[in-house]
Amino acid sequence: MKSKVIIVGAGIGDKDNITVKVKKALENADVIVYDRLINHDIIREYEGKKELYYVGKKASHHTMAQEDINKLMVKMANEGKNLVRLKGGDPYIFARGSEEALFLKENGVDFEVYPGLTAATVCLNSAGIPQTHRNISQSVTYITGHRENDEDQSFEKYGKYDGTLVFYMGLKNLDKIINDLLAGGMDGDADIAIISKGGYNNQKVFKSKVRFVLTEIKEEDFPSPTLIVIGKTVGLSDDLNYFENRVLFNKNVLITRSLKESFDLSQRLTELGANVINAPTFSIEYKNLDILENDIDNFDYDYLIFTSTNSVRIFFETLLKKHDIRKIGKVKIAAIGLKTKRVIESFNLKVDYYSKEGVAEKLYEKLFSIIKKEDKVYLPHSSLTRPYIIDRLREKSTLRDLEIYDNEIIKEKVNFDEKLDAALFMSSSSVNNFIEVYGKDALKDVKIFSIGAITSQTLKDHGLNDIIQPKIASSENLLEEVEKYYENEKN
Ligand code: SAH
Repeated sequence: MKSKVIIVGAGIGDKDNITVKVKKALENADVIVYDRLINHDIIREYEGKKELYYVGKKASHHTMAQEDINKLMVKMANEGKNLVRLKGGDPYIFARGSEEALFLKENGVDFEVYPGLTAATVCLNSAGIPQTHRNISQSVTYITGHRENDEDQSFEKYGKYDGTLVFYMGLKNLDKIINDLLAGGMDGDADIAIISKGGYNNQKVFKSKVRFVLTEIKEEDFPSPTLIVIGKTVGLSDDLNYFENRVLFNKNVLITRSLKESFDLSQRLTELGANVINAPTFSIEYKNLDILENDIDNFDYDYLIFTSTNSVRIFFETLLKKHDIRKIGKVKIAAIGLKTKRVIESFNLKVDYYSKEGVAEKLYEKLFSIIKKEDKVYLPHSSLTRPYIIDRLREKSTLRDLEIYDNEIIKEKVNFDEKLDAALFMSSSSVNNFIEVYGKDALKDVKIFSIGAITSQTLKDHGLNDIIQPKIASSENLLEEVEKYYENEKN
């Protein structure tokens, strides 16, 4: 089949502001060629899995000339690769998508173009400004504030426009835009909003009147990218600003779990408005996999017990390499914590015994009257698993336990400039590792949330006493505590 280039828009802001169609195109691509104004989380998923080319342009500072990007696309298409050209926002709005498509056509390369949410759609929404509103604004116009020398340079003709004006790439030219509009007859009392980093949880929105704006703002206070909006619907933003009213809006929240594990939590925190800073303090290193494989080959147990989501994943990944799920037969399955239970269920298995709380003692309370000395119990676990459950089960049953992973401490620091508002700790080892690598000062004046009593004790051992902790140890409950705390703080 002939290869094809698909030019797509990634949307703006939140990584989920992408269409299903574009997401599918990315999944199917061999090569992704992407620009600067794209949420990097979209690309991160494909690191190491696809050929990625960054061709981003920074104002006046081109990483790769347009001509070279065009040639690169043709070359790869001719090599038979499926290439997705990923652009910020929509590829046909101030993005040269049409120029690139024309070039492909001239060179006999098949192409398709998929739309994306443009900056105006996303940023006005997240600033609480509707693009149109009955009886208030009947139209909207997107204008580029940045013109080539041979283009019409004047904005005067928009001075009498009665709908919503949205300027892309306009901040550098704000003086001229405002002066032209006023010269063109615009009312100086017209509402204006400047939206910086729109659609991200650290967005900044500044509102004013057209005649005041030039004296009130300094360009450097509005990190790029920025969008300028002028029109009556700006006035609705106090009532419609759901985005900045979310409970964690613009709070810098640190989480310390390893990337894979922290995903759900990170996603939920982001949805609630937080800027999540992920500083994993340990990585998961598989170990004893040959022994595990051998144990699975000869699997004959009455109970299979999981203490963590990682042990579930490693166990079943290993099992499914060679066998199918019948290999574990009629074994009874037990899990510590709801997360662990859920991961087991994702393998289409029911969990017979579990504790809601992520603590071994709670699961053991359920098991100790059931398990008998002759019962064969299999317990794959981490090298950091507390001895408690291993010792109890060894007394109570015929136990085979195996360390299947290590938690290696990550010594490299993640750089973050933001002042932290909150830090969430999910285990004693992450507390110890974090403090070892970043120092205790990194937690000065930071609200600390701990998943449970054991983690809290470790924090206290480091002299950190002002801790919020849910009654039942689970990440859902921890998140609830975070929400509650900031809800109260707001009121
Ligand atoms: N194709 C893109 C626009 C690219 S031009 C689209 O459809 O949105 C780049 C301009 O888009 C920036 O100068 C800025 O004006 C606007 N822009 C992009 N992302 C933005 C963001 N997160 N917040 C505010 N403006 C943004």
